[in-house]
Parts: sequence; C-alpha cells; structure tokens
Amino acid sequence: MTQQTTGEPAAILRIAIQKSGRLYEDSIRLLRECGIELNNGNKQLKTTSDNFPVEVYFLRDDDIPQYVFDRVADIGIVGENVLLEKNKEIDLVYRLGFGRCRLSLAVPKAMPYSGLSDLAGLKIATTYTHLLQQYLDKNSIVAEIHEISGSVEIAPGIGLADAICDLVSSGSTLFTNGLREVEVVLPSEAVLAAAQNLAAPKQAILDKLLLRINAVHRAKRVKYILLNAPNDQLENIAGILPGAKSPTIVPLAEPGWSSVQSVVNENDFWEVIEKLKAFKAEGILVVPIEKMID
Ligand code: ATP
Ligand code: ZN
Repeated sequence: MTQQTTGEPAAILRIAIQKSGRLYEDSIRLLRECGIELNNGNKQLKTTSDNFPVEVYFLRDDDIPQYVFDRVADIGIVGENVLLEKNKEIDLVYRLGFGRCRLSLAVPKAMPYSGLSDLAGLKIATTYTHLLQQYLDKNSIVAEIHEISGSVEIAPGIGLADAICDLVSSGSTLFTNGLREVEVVLPSEAVLAAAQNLAAPKQAILDKLLLRINAVHRAKRVKYILLNAPNDQLENIAGILPGAKSPTIVPLAEPGWSSVQSVVNENDFWEVIEKLKAFKAEGILVVPIEKMID
C-alpha cells in the first residue's frame, strides 16, 4: 500500500455495495465508468483498487446503512427505500439513477378500492414497517402492520394479510399474485449515502468520486452531433444547437457548406433532428459521449 511521507497510511475511502442482487451489476458498472479498476472483485468480502484510493465492501443491502452509520464503511450504494427504512443518521449525497422502483400498497384484485380510507382496519404485510407506518400516520389511517421478511406478495393469497406494501417495478409480480397496485408510498432509486462529517482526506476522495459520477451522468444525458449544412442556414442551425458553449463550425472543402459539431440533450433529441432536417442539414451523425466535464 502507498505510504505518505509522514509514515501515516494514505487515506482510503471505504465503499459498501450490495454483494449480489439487483444493485450489484450497476454499482460495479458505475465504479468502472468512473475509471476505478477493482482487483479480483469476484464475490469476496472486500476488494481494493490500484488506480483509485478505495476499498469496496460487499454486503447485504439491508446492512449498508448501519455499516455506514457505524463508520465501518465511509459511503454506501443502496436503494433510497432501504436508506429511509433504516432511518440512520447518514447523508444522501447523490441519486444514481439506477435501481428504480417504488414502494407501493397493493390489494387483491377483487377487493373494491376507492381510496386510502379503504385501508383502515386492514392487516397489511410488509418488510418496510417504518416507511409504511410513517405513510399511514401522515394520512391518518389506522391499520395493522404485519412484518414479514420475504415473499410479501403471497401474504394475501395465503390469508396472512388483507393487503401488502412492497417494492414494485413492472408490476408483473403483483399481477401474477392477483394483486393490484393502489398507492405509491415512495418512489425509489439507488443512492450514494455517506457518513456524516467525513475526515478531510476522505471527503476529498469522495469529492473526486462525485466529480467523476457527475461526468458519467452528464455524458449519458447528451449526445455528440455532427452534420453538414449549407452556409446560409448556419445561423438557424446554431440557434437550435447551443452546444456546451456554442457549436463548432468548420468550412467543408465543398464551397458554400460547413461541418457543424455540437452536443444535444437526449430529451429534445428528436425535436432537434427534425428542425435540423428542415434547415437542410445533411449527413447527420450522432455519437455517444463517454464523459463530460466542465
Ligand atoms: P440482499 O441479499 O442484499 O438483502 P435483497 O433481496 O434485499 O438483497 P434485491 O431484490 O436485490 O434485494 O433489491 C435491492 C434493491 O433493488 C431494492 O432495495 C430496491 O432499491 C431495488 N429494486 C429495483 N427494482 C426492484 C424490484 N422490482 N423489486 C425489488 N427491489 C427493486
Ligand atoms: Zn435486502
């Protein structure tokens, strides 16, 4: 391990991620996209990197908030649903945009449901007792929360509960279990959570990591676009292609034509393409951007 001149060990940021499950692949991919190469990351308890000062711990997602709170890890990647359910004093520092799902209430398809008040007095099975209680309290509903640790969706079918509160993404699991989603308790995605008041050297590593994550995310939201345009349309085209600052315009060998290069937001992508066509743009090329830094 590298040593500072003082003989103190160099600062290391300890990151907890899910050992296996829905967040594992995306967590590893994020680190890789940030240029962090992990040594033999294959399902060990922890691993290191030779090109970034981190140590990665592989844990059950439910344990991650506690480990970060106890400062066994400095930061963790975990679903916001788990972070809020565990309710530890740690900070949500970044929403990562993967692992999207929602914590929802569902009732048997045949049960009439016209609003939250229909849940009053029911027995609701969940693993998210804290979030459900909070939600019911906020809506002044008194119901019985029945805590179970897994396979929540089968609870109504076997007579264990009248309704459930569980994570949903497509809704197909609910459907196959004869249930209907009726209320969203919490929309969720994977987040980066950090221990409070990190020591300055660790905070500096976290800041570096956040800069990289930001660059990766920005790059995903934009595309690089190249096109040829007649010179008399350049002003029109520049008007719809603001670029990072302004588009790059280079004359082509063919008189009266230029090559235009810029970035375009994914959200208005198709709209921009249509306008470009209307302004006689040709040979439009759209390429992904790997990183984008100010
Ligand atoms: P562990 O063994 O780590 O405890 P787990 O079985 O509790 O794993 P997973 O099912 O892998 O957890 O889900 C991890 C996280 O993925 C969830 O907490 C949630 O934030 C997110 N997620 C995204 N979509 C879904 C979904 N459809 N169902 C459940 N979780 C989802
Ligand atoms: Zn779990």
